[in-house]
Amino acid sequence: MPHQVFNWQINRKMDYWYPEARPQRQWAAVFDINKCIACQTCTIACKTTWTSGRGQETMLWNNVETKPFGFYPTAWDLRILKMLGAQKWGKEEYEGDTIFEAAPEGERYLGYRPDDEDWAHPNLGEDECSEPIEKGAYLQVPHAVWFFYLARICNHCTYPACLAACPRGAIYKRQEDGIVLIDQRQCRGHRECMQACPYKKTFFNPVTGTSEKCIGCFPAIESGMQPQCFTNCIGKIRLHGFISLPEKAREDNPIDYLVHIRKIALPLYPQFGLEPNVYYVPPLHVKEKFLVQMFGPQVEAAKEAYMKAKDDPTLLGCLLLFGSTPRIIHSFKVKGETAYAYDDKGGEICRVPLKEPVYIRPYFDEARAVHRHNIS
Ligand code: SF4
Ligand code: SF4
Repeated sequence: MPHQVFNWQINRKMDYWYPEARPQRQWAAVFDINKCIACQTCTIACKTTWTSGRGQETMLWNNVETKPFGFYPTAWDLRILKMLGAQKWGKEEYEGDTIFEAAPEGERYLGYRPDDEDWAHPNLGEDECSEPIEKGAYLQVPHAVWFFYLARICNHCTYPACLAACPRGAIYKRQEDGIVLIDQRQCRGHRECMQACPYKKTFFNPVTGTSEKCIGCFPAIESGMQPQCFTNCIGKIRLHGFISLPEKAREDNPIDYLVHIRKIALPLYPQFGLEPNVYYVPPLHVKEKFLVQMFGPQVEAAKEAYMKAKDDPTLLGCLLLFGSTPRIIHSFKVKGETAYAYDDKGGEICRVPLKEPVYIRPYFDEARAVHRHNIS
């Protein structure tokens, strides 16, 4: 029988297979979509670290897909959105069903299992919105031409569907940091987790006969470092840390500050009901309807606040700390023209200027008697 648990992202109680049991602290991340350049360095950093073995050939724990037509696996979000039916947000809370509440009679969740083929084409559909059809584009789209890059990893959800679905109890959520793991000794490859996770972030390894998933780079986390896909990100779009419940949000915790206080980073498909813990700064140039479906009704307010960051030193400083250190930032402050980051003991990790200093060198270098072409 399902239990009633509170999900702050949909602001109401909902059904979940297990009782509410929050970890001591929750692994979390903010991704700024506006800065992603789809270089896939994160994908390769993860692949070479964790999934270069046999049976892992088409497994991407981290992937970056071009929305609206890129998917990994094929049509993953379209399929579950369609199965879920109308998703209605009220003024205060989500009024539709989550995937747990929409579960068919006798089931723990609503879901589907992708075919092997669906994992084999991670770039299918990536270039579909390029030009109007008369200029040679493959597809006619019913909206203005736009796209954006969506970097995706496991959300280490507060209410993981993968965990709820496992008939062996092989999936667990760590008390110390909320990371969701599959115990390889317990897993028998039933693939219920693959069917249940609406984000499709568990994978089957046909060589080991078990399911595998992102481990949140827990060895790095345990030594105070951010995960591989974060520290290698070329666009500096990622910040890792720990998130509090909204009523316990700390202004000096950068994740709390962006998610709870300034509300510029939003969860991916909160209506699924999993309380996912990767939060996204929504892309500024994309139409509201599409973004509301993806990130919930707060999306326009988030975009507005983000647009004003240049005149808002604390927000700007917080955003500039993304990609500034491989270590986990537990707190931050902005003083004068500088943002400072601190570890869990309050020791300074790094500092970043709010404005990049610019040095203009003379066009003619007298000491060397040469002209310079690059003077800044
Ligand atoms: S994103 Fe999927 S795999 Fe990751 S914790 Fe949530 S339900 Fe499980
Ligand atoms: S490394 Fe960063 S910028 Fe490059 S694709 Fe990944 S998330 Fe985007």
